[in-house]
Amino acid sequence: MNYFDHSATTPMRPEVLEAMTPYLLEQYGNPSSVHAAGRSARAAIDKARRQIAQELNAKPTELIFTSGGTESDNYAIFGAAEATREKGRHLITTRFEHHAVLHAFEELEKQGYDVTYLDVPNTGVVSLAALQEAVREDTTLVSIMFGNNEVGTIQPIAAFGQFLRERGILFHTDAVQVFGKQAIDVEALHVDLLSASGHKINGPKGIGLLYVRTGVKLAPQTFGGEQERKRRAGTENVPGIVGLAKALELMIAERDQQQDHIKQLRSVLLTRLNESGVTYEVNGVEGLPNVLNLYFPRIEIEPFLIMLDMRQMAVSSGSACTAGSVEPSHVLSAMYGEDERTRASVRISFGHGNELAQVELLAQALQDVVKSFQN
Ligand SMILES: *Cc1c(COP(=O)(O)O)cnc(C)c1O
Repeated sequence: MNYFDHSATTPMRPEVLEAMTPYLLEQYGNPSSVHAAGRSARAAIDKARRQIAQELNAKPTELIFTSGGTESDNYAIFGAAEATREKGRHLITTRFEHHAVLHAFEELEKQGYDVTYLDVPNTGVVSLAALQEAVREDTTLVSIMFGNNEVGTIQPIAAFGQFLRERGILFHTDAVQVFGKQAIDVEALHVDLLSASGHKINGPKGIGLLYVRTGVKLAPQTFGGEQERKRRAGTENVPGIVGLAKALELMIAERDQQQDHIKQLRSVLLTRLNESGVTYEVNGVEGLPNVLNLYFPRIEIEPFLIMLDMRQMAVSSGSACTAGSVEPSHVLSAMYGEDERTRASVRISFGHGNELAQVELLAQALQDVVKSFQN
């Protein structure tokens, strides 16, 4: 299998499994226990927290471990909206967020909040001007993603953050696709809340984190024990936390080299497509080098993906295929409106393990399959 779907999930690195194994088999103590087994688990969490905080330029006390990006997004959004309800009920997000953000805001609308969904231009980059125009006296929370998971575009988070900080409006960013791939400095970005996930960086599934700036109040969304400084009840996922820190450590150590390698893979793929004469366009401007979203006019997405799968190529479309009908990608609809490309685009996302030879095979497969539709 040639796997080009790293924006969906990534294989876990063996080094990560190795770091986790002791906490699954021998050091299984509950971190809340006073005995030696508990203390050793507690020490592992503390170490991981310090390591990750350093990468984000955050304080260890500002990190909450969660079950993943979805829970982090939900906790940030519901927690902040509820905690500031008396101050105002206007919230802002964008039309091309991950569903973990979008559906949270839709739920808040049902609860009586007023939500502005910012339009997204063709570039896939939301402008500061659009945000400035949408802000009102009663705006309490803004959530705008850092790197988009379908088109890879990067938002000017630092500019948004600076503007919102001056207004005293809470700012959350879903950084799941950027975490580990680029250095993140929560101070320079002026964010109050930031979500990340383990399984997008060759770590385990079911672990993530939420950065919460000191002083920012969130209404609790889980009730139980006093874990995570009483902010997230439930016994900590010790192996997951250790695995997350290890995965991040590997990402950082190999980051520059890996980014260069991925830029090369991207460039070779585009060169081959240009040479082949197939008709295509890249959706959105370049952002995360590992995400490439391509529009191939006249393809039919379902048979297209099946034909690629038969050639052992794993790519994806933002479109959900349900019982014979293809739902257009909400990200591409936000960027291009009603357009054939919302149903005829493919996401190729590179990651650890992808080699040049595989990309040559992918280029050949794409060329053959696209031609069968375009000729
Ligand atoms: C994958 C993803 C999520 C969800 O993270 P999980 O850990 O799978 O819950 C949220 N936001 C973005 C941008 C993602 O790519």
